[in-house]
Amino acid sequence: MKNHPIAIFDIDGVLANGAHRKYILTPLSFGKIQRGSIENISLFNAYVLAAEKDSIFEDEADLLRMTHNQGLDIILITARPEWSRLMTTHWLARHWVPYTEMYMRESECQWSDVDVKIDIYNKHLRGNGRRIMFAVEDRIQCVKMWRKLGITCLQPRDGDY
Ligand SMILES: [Mg+2]
Repeated sequence: MKNHPIAIFDIDGVLANGAHRKYILTPLSFGKIQRGSIENISLFNAYVLAAEKDSIFEDEADLLRMTHNQGLDIILITARPEWSRLMTTHWLARHWVPYTEMYMRESECQWSDVDVKIDIYNKHLRGNGRRIMFAVEDRIQCVKMWRKLGITCLQPRDGDY
């Protein structure tokens, strides 16, 4: 994978359609559960586990496959926790998503997705001389983060949450 340009893809909201599991997080949005509490962590874990049943966004998956076919390395960067790697790997295989590398949140890490992704970028991509052609993200905070780093970022749908 040494000298090929890179395309970065987010998973949730870009490749994986998790609309069916959003209800799991509803108690959090009412502010009844504290961030970092056991209830919060349990709900989050349930939310991640339910991703196994996500459908795929076909247009974005086709964009990824075409990009891959053109010889770019596909780097998946997701705030899903590391403990869900096996499940996520199976999901990606089931939906014919080719990729070179997948970086995930460390399992116990409670950082925001933006902080998780900047950390991954700093550890694995920054200053390695590889051209990053574009990133694909749904959530506006992450879109802004990539653009701030000087990376072209495509946003396939509104993600103002
Ligand atoms: Mg996302």
